[in-house]
Amino acid sequence: MVNVCDIQVMKPLLAEHGFHFSKAKGQNFLIAPWVPQSIAEQSGVDGMAGVLEIGPGVGPLTQQLALRAGKVCAVEVDERLKPILAVTVGEFGNVEILWQDVLKLDIPALVKEKFPGLRPMACANLPYYITSPILTALLEAECFDCVTVMVQKEVAQRIAAAPGTADYSAFTIFCQYYAEPELLFEVPAHCFLPQPKVTSAVVSLHVRRECPWEILDEDVFFRTVRASFAMRRKKLSNGLASGFPELGKAGAAEVIAAAGFAPNVRGETLSIPEFARIANEILRRRGNAI
Ligand code: SAM
Repeated sequence: MVNVCDIQVMKPLLAEHGFHFSKAKGQNFLIAPWVPQSIAEQSGVDGMAGVLEIGPGVGPLTQQLALRAGKVCAVEVDERLKPILAVTVGEFGNVEILWQDVLKLDIPALVKEKFPGLRPMACANLPYYITSPILTALLEAECFDCVTVMVQKEVAQRIAAAPGTADYSAFTIFCQYYAEPELLFEVPAHCFLPQPKVTSAVVSLHVRRECPWEILDEDVFFRTVRASFAMRRKKLSNGLASGFPELGKAGAAEVIAAAGFAPNVRGETLSIPEFARIANEILRRRGNAI
């Protein structure tokens, strides 16, 4: 197997094919072999797993996944990498590369087609400029057992944040609604070529099989969360009144009281089941109004 993480191997390989890094495509390639090895090891990928990898680059993580998985389907947007990946992962019969933009894919359809009889998983060193849309698509696809990704450390902290902390955000709640996050390890900037300006971290999102909370309407729930964080420094009643104009200020205050919270409660301190209580109360009032 070509040790593609070894800079003495990677640099001549890139030069041979006239490859130059594209900043616009978020290309920071791994040059520390322990990183793809640890990601693949800790992701829980095994022979029964069908793994969707996003952005294989020159293939360091693809190789490690291919050694462990039943099948790897890697989606790469940059076709200049074709001849390089042919060298680095061509020997693996269980790897298929799709030359596409992951954001244009019908992910559930792809998983169904490519991984019959396998446990679908996703694993990637993500291009950081589109971390949120990719994670959103992977979680909303509702077809993976586990999603393990390398992201900026700050993003990993946001994904795993607790209520009331500075990192807690609408994105935290979105991720934790779908999955239980587990922070795995940090990866310093010197493990990449070119070096990014930030530290990275690997996080596993263990997808929930069932929603553990009573959330009567997903749309109203997420609208409640967004309304609350749009005005995170203000009282929840202000955010609700602005996000649900039909409630008005008085209605927003009534919803908060009926859900059992103090009038001056701030949204950023609420847990998912507490947001659910608010959202369900909004829905109940709507029902009464009809
Ligand atoms: N997996 C390799 C590694 O760890 O060294 C490369 C990771 S690099 C951070 C991100 C990769 O995602 C690049 O190969 C880039 O070309 C690819 N990429 C960027 N945007 C993409 C998109 N919209 N769809 C698929 N791949 C994309």
